[in-house]
Amino acid sequence: MSDKFGFATKALHIGQPVEKEFNSVVPPIYMTTTYKQDTPGEPKVYDYTRSGNPNFGFLEETLASLENAKFATIFSSGLGGVTSILSRLQPGERVISIDDVYGGTFRLMKNTFLGQHIDAVFGDINDEGWVKSELAKGARLIWIESPTNPLLTLADIEKLAALAHEHNAELVVDNTFASSYFQSPLSLGADLVLHSCTKYIGGHSDIVGGCVATNSKEWKDHLDYARKAIGFNPSPFDAWLLSRSIKTLAVRMERHQENAWELAKRLSKHPKVKTTIYPGLESHPQHSLAQKQMSGYSGIVSVIFNTDLQETKKLIASFKLIKLAESLGAVESLVCHPASMTHASIPRDLRVARGLDDGLIRISVGLEDIEDLWADITSVLDEKGS
Ligand SMILES: *Cc1c(COP(=O)(O)O)cnc(C)c1O
Repeated sequence: MSDKFGFATKALHIGQPVEKEFNSVVPPIYMTTTYKQDTPGEPKVYDYTRSGNPNFGFLEETLASLENAKFATIFSSGLGGVTSILSRLQPGERVISIDDVYGGTFRLMKNTFLGQHIDAVFGDINDEGWVKSELAKGARLIWIESPTNPLLTLADIEKLAALAHEHNAELVVDNTFASSYFQSPLSLGADLVLHSCTKYIGGHSDIVGGCVATNSKEWKDHLDYARKAIGFNPSPFDAWLLSRSIKTLAVRMERHQENAWELAKRLSKHPKVKTTIYPGLESHPQHSLAQKQMSGYSGIVSVIFNTDLQETKKLIASFKLIKLAESLGAVESLVCHPASMTHASIPRDLRVARGLDDGLIRISVGLEDIEDLWADITSVLDEKGS
C-alpha cells in the first residue's frame, strides 16, 4: 500500500501500527531483551533483541518505504551499517571509493581489520577513465557519497550504477547529506543506500544510529545476519525515537533547504566570502547534475572565507546562535572548520590540494528564523577591524 502515498504520508503512516491491546496510536517501546517461547526453538516472531525487536521492525518498514526499497536494516550507528556491508566481502575483494569519503568510513576501509581483509582504492569518482580502469581489474563495490563532505561534490548515480553493473560490481550510495527526502538512489540504479541516521533522519542531535536499504533479499539477509553476528543493534528506545523523528522529516527538510538556499545566496554576495558552495546555486560546478538526480539541495552550505587558519578559527568560534560542533543535519544550526576539526589529520599541502582551504567552513543550516541566522553571521563578518 505504501507505493500510492507521498513521502510525508509514508513518513507518518508506514511502520506506525496502532497497538492492539489499548489502541494506542503510537506504538509502545518494547524494552525487552528476550521473548517467551511456547515451544523450544519456535519463537513467536523474535527470539533475542540483538537479532530483532518490534521497534526495529517498525522503523525498518518506514525507512524502506522512504527509500523506495523492499528492505531496510537498522544499526546502532552509520558506521555499524558500513561495517556490516563490508563484512560481506571475501578476502582481497575490492572496493572503489571516492577519495573524499567520510573520515570514519576511510578509517574502517584502511586501518581496521577490515582494511587488511579487503582491497580499497580511493580516487576521483568523476574521472570515468580511472573508474573504468579500476573496474577492469575486478571490483565488488563502488562506494560513493553525493553530495560529499564538506565540498558538496556530486557523483552521477545513474551512470556509476550502470558502469558497476556492466562489470559485475554493485553501487553503494551513502545518502546521509541529501537524506531520503531529496534523493532516491535505488530508483537511479544503486544497489545499497546507507544513512547515518544520526544526521537528518534523527535530526535532533540526540540519537546515534544507522540504516541500510536495498531491494536485494541476499543483501537484506546478510545485513540482518551481520547485525546479529557482530552486535550492531541499536536500543529499542533509540529505534522508537528515530520513528518519532521521521514523522517530521519532510517538513524539516523543506525548511533546512529554504534556510540553506537563502543563506547561500546572501553569503555569495558578501565581500568577506571567496566562494560559496551549495548545489542549488547556479555557480555550483555540478548544478545541472543536482537538478537531474536530486529533488532538492538539502541543508548544508560550505563557505570559503578570505581568511587564514587563525582568523577562520576565531571567526567561527564567535557565532552566538550557530554552534561550533561536529555532526550535521540537526534542527539547530552547527558550524565546523574542516582544517582544524574533521580533516586536521590530513597534511596541509594535501588538504589544500583537495580544495580544503584554511578559510573553508561548513554550516549545517538549522530551522531557526532566517533573519536571526543572518544577524548572527553578519555580526561576526561585519565586525570592525576583523
Ligand atoms: C556521520 C556520517 C557517517 C557515520 O555515521 P555515524 O552515525 O556517526 O556512525 C557516515 N557517512 C556520513 C556521510 C556521515 O556524515
